[in-house]
Amino acid sequence: MYTMGIDVGSASSKVVILKDGKEVVAAYVAQVGTGTSGPEQALNEAFKQSGLSQQDISKTVATGYGRFAFEDADRQISEISCHAKGVHFQFPNARTIIDIGGQDAKAIRLDKDGNVKQFFMNDKCAAGTGRFLDVMARVLETTVDHLAEYSEKAEFPASISSTCTVFAESEVISQLAKGEKKENIIAGVHKSVASKALALAYRGVIEEDIVMSGGVALNAGVVKAIADQTGMKITVAENPQTIGALGAALFAYEEALKDH
Ligand code: ADP
Repeated sequence: MYTMGIDVGSASSKVVILKDGKEVVAAYVAQVGTGTSGPEQALNEAFKQSGLSQQDISKTVATGYGRFAFEDADRQISEISCHAKGVHFQFPNARTIIDIGGQDAKAIRLDKDGNVKQFFMNDKCAAGTGRFLDVMARVLETTVDHLAEYSEKAEFPASISSTCTVFAESEVISQLAKGEKKENIIAGVHKSVASKALALAYRGVIEEDIVMSGGVALNAGVVKAIADQTGMKITVAENPQTIGALGAALFAYEEALKDH
């Protein structure tokens, strides 16, 4: 039996197809999110990868910011539940999830069975989200996938004190004008994102194992900054951007079993 999860995010659209609730047969990320052709693109690519078609899919669950815009789903489930489900599937010992996506950041606490005990979310402000990194990468004339290479070479993180993305952008520009090294500025940007994510997580208790999901988990510079600030080991989920879609596909499997 095949089930599908689709995560229509602000920055990207992700599809996971699961066989019998255990085996990932397709996982695809289209780098465009809600309000675009992203969901359709991700679906088509996932069908191509798996050699399956819509008729083969027993149930589909949609999650993400744009989940209600995807009309072909059997059910919509929140990203919090889906990230919890996806992370618990990959790492049953995970007790804290730090999920940083395109326009929000979440800290989720799990019990030993993978149930959500508590969560904290910032979806009001771009600071501490992928958007902040996207803006900074542009100002620094690079792309998000190269940020970690720079911060690895930093001597120390430059101070980025503004909590607001717009002010922080001005701060980065004035650091550049003063001749500060790009590497140090980028390390400062990573430190700032890490502090914001941890401020959310510290509203509760940070319990190990800690797993990161969402697109920003692909940025090793942010992962390292979080590890440095907590002094704890941070595990990056496998294919972290597709964790919400994986969780949705797992929920779709549970839905499908109810019909049997
Ligand atoms: P959403 O679920 O809101 O659509 P994602 O989980 O896809 O968001 O995360 C998008 C963010 O992930 C981007 O804003 C960007 O900062 C970051 N990101 C995406 N791809 C990469 C990459 N290859 N390397 C580093 N960061 C990345």
